[in-house]
Amino acid sequence: MVETRLLSITPDAEELVCRCARNDYYPGKVWEDDFETVMESVDGTSIQKKKHNLLKKLMLRGHWGVFEHPSMSLWFRVSRACMAQITRHRHVSFDIQSMRYVNFSKLDPTSEEDIHYPRTWDAEKVKAREGTRAITMSVDERRALIEETYSQCLEAYNDLVEAGMPKEDARMLLPIGTKVNITASMNLRTAFHIVSMRGAGDAQAEIQELADSIREVMDEHLPTAMKIWNENKTAIERQRLSP
Ligand SMILES: Cc1cc2nc3c(=O)[nH]c(=O)nc-3n(C[C@H](O)[C@H](O)[C@H](O)COP(=O)(O)OP(=O)(O)OC[C@H]3O[C@@H](n4cnc5c(N)ncnc54)[C@H](O)[C@@H]3O)c2cc1C
Repeated sequence: MVETRLLSITPDAEELVCRCARNDYYPGKVWEDDFETVMESVDGTSIQKKKHNLLKKLMLRGHWGVFEHPSMSLWFRVSRACMAQITRHRHVSFDIQSMRYVNFSKLDPTSEEDIHYPRTWDAEKVKAREGTRAITMSVDERRALIEETYSQCLEAYNDLVEAGMPKEDARMLLPIGTKVNITASMNLRTAFHIVSMRGAGDAQAEIQELADSIREVMDEHLPTAMKIWNENKTAIERQRLSP
């Protein structure tokens, strides 16, 4: 279970992309004229159609630079394992809840809000990833083992903190599935890159879920660009978001 919240996003992000793109060929000042005027030489009838046509042209041509102008900031809560993956993306600015300063003793080892429970521990007929070997433990057995192990780790962590050990040392006993809060800011080019790379079927399950939640935010705030993306995904991805 990945929790994601949008903190902020550039207002009228699609319009900003279009204004910046038109700036390259526009004789006037794109900030001075209304959007209709700025878009006047783009084919189509309604302003929505003109916006759609321009965005589609940009995306199909791989003109991704203009998508670097708008940006968004998100909050999410994921495992430290997922954190290690998402923070590999170098164009994102992160802040991560500190295990040196925050006391994690109140975590509930049985709650998916605090600990990541992988899908494979719930799916009845899942196969092990490294071959066709079926998982031989039942769902209940797997769940019990994980709860017991997490509980033991947290208990040991709590004992060490109570005994006066600094949290930065006691944290070494916290499992990699421990959830942390993250704030992340990225431009839309990077957001497309992450959604494309981490939302792919071969990406690890938790980060796929995170990518899907970012895509949902984009679906809501960039409806035209995301419609184009969904309808032309193969052609667009051929343009390589990150050549
Ligand atoms: C399925 C999968 C499995 C993975 N497995 C592993 C693994 O086992 N071990 C591991 O360490 N990592 C692994 N990774 C992480 C991967 O290697 C990248 O570090 C991570 O996905 C960041 O993406 P990115 O390389 O596109 O870079 P980003 O930082 O997101 O940058 C976006 C783009 O900017 C450009 N760019 C950024 N920085 C540079 C630079 N310095 N030089 C040139 N171009 C640059 C590139 O075009 C890049 O694609 C895996 C990723 C995936 C999706």
